[in-house]
Amino acid sequence: MTQLRTDALSAFLWISVLSIGCAAAGAPGETTRQVSGNDPPGYLIRNASLVLTMDPHLGSGALGALEDADVLIIGNQIAAVGQGLEAPGGARVIHGDGMIVMPGFVDTHDHLWQSSIRGCGADDNLIGWLNRCVFTVGGSTFTEEDAYAVVRLSTVGLINAGVTTVNDWSHNFNPDFLRGNIRALMDSGLRFHFSMRQRTLDGSDVLATKAQFFDPNPLATLQIGPRAAAAVEADFAAMVQVAKEHGLKIHTHFLEHPDEILDDAFGVIVRSGALELGNDLILAHAIHLTDEEVAILGEAGVSVTHQPLSNMRLASGIIRFGDLKAAGVQLGLGLDGGTNDTPDAFNNMRAAVGLQRVKFVDAAVSPTVEEVLRLATLGGAELLDLDDEVGSLTPGKQADVIVINPNRLNFAPRMNWVNQLVFNGQNQNIEWVFVAGRALKKKGEVVGVKEGDLVAGAEAVAAKLLPLVDE
Ligand SMILES: [Zn+2]
Repeated sequence: MTQLRTDALSAFLWISVLSIGCAAAGAPGETTRQVSGNDPPGYLIRNASLVLTMDPHLGSGALGALEDADVLIIGNQIAAVGQGLEAPGGARVIHGDGMIVMPGFVDTHDHLWQSSIRGCGADDNLIGWLNRCVFTVGGSTFTEEDAYAVVRLSTVGLINAGVTTVNDWSHNFNPDFLRGNIRALMDSGLRFHFSMRQRTLDGSDVLATKAQFFDPNPLATLQIGPRAAAAVEADFAAMVQVAKEHGLKIHTHFLEHPDEILDDAFGVIVRSGALELGNDLILAHAIHLTDEEVAILGEAGVSVTHQPLSNMRLASGIIRFGDLKAAGVQLGLGLDGGTNDTPDAFNNMRAAVGLQRVKFVDAAVSPTVEEVLRLATLGGAELLDLDDEVGSLTPGKQADVIVINPNRLNFAPRMNWVNQLVFNGQNQNIEWVFVAGRALKKKGEVVGVKEGDLVAGAEAVAAKLLPLVDE
């Protein structure tokens, strides 16, 4: 990791550059596509064959399932779920026959710039991959437009995959990178948390970014992303204080690889008072834990975000999923950027189920199919403290909704659609994606996107990075 710049002068420069650049980036016409311009005042998804509301009060079982039901979206909210609903004037009717409707996926840990390093370091473990593919390309390599291009590729990929909320942990390589990263998220129409790696120890850069970009945007929330390691313990402790003072979440990578035990990350979160944050402390990975440490995390009520595809790719280990859940830790799923290589929430659910089954040689072990569907939606919303707004199709919540077409080669015929969502689902089955009532994907196509332009923009960045990575 690059050394943090901590002296007062560099802090001043950082904020000055951020402010000046932001004014330029906000010039008229420079930001991008409208996602709401063509949306009607509402949508009625009529007679959907299966609606998984994730609200047991609305339907049967833990997933609140309804058969042959309507979902009515008015403005940015879910207005009603039930049968025989009427479409108000101007609303668009979507025929739900043969379709599955459920809340959008919540990706609780990702690195959106890492679409630029897909496929890098195929035979490396975490440490090797970081050294080859991440630390070599940071610093001043990225311009604002570079960051924008590759993050935009990722946001469109997420929408295509039915993800409606993402938590992007940003390496914040430089102020231009930060602006490009945030602009691409703002322009995506996604709901997002953004975990910003701090560059000043008084929190001034984090708070300036929050005021400028996040406070005015109801879809956006800022977190702080410090590193938990003994070598930078004072920095971590300083960010814990900023988080407590300003009601922000701390989101840190934690015991992902056995070698990181030497960093004493557990000692750092204990000594810094981070455990007092409860579920405002988000630990990414949290794989290599003792029984005592699992109990301490459960007692504190912290959150753990699990990246099964990344853990497999980087040979990181298998999370103690059942133990953490039993201890009371709030769990969610994440896609984890370039270590997973492509946005695919179905694949991630399959891997979360499969890893535990392989570990315990037990097909009934947690997470079950029902558990993992809840984990990928409402569980993620709970982890981000967004469950009052999203995560289920409860009327009054924000309309973050996906419509899935199971009548495809990979999914049909119907045997048990709940099971098939986890074992057979692919991105090609996602027909419609709504965030806050806005259709970001319609009839299988992401709205307002020219795939060729997106790919060309990202190719130019990858061509710049390729000589830097040690392939
Ligand atoms: Zn990560």
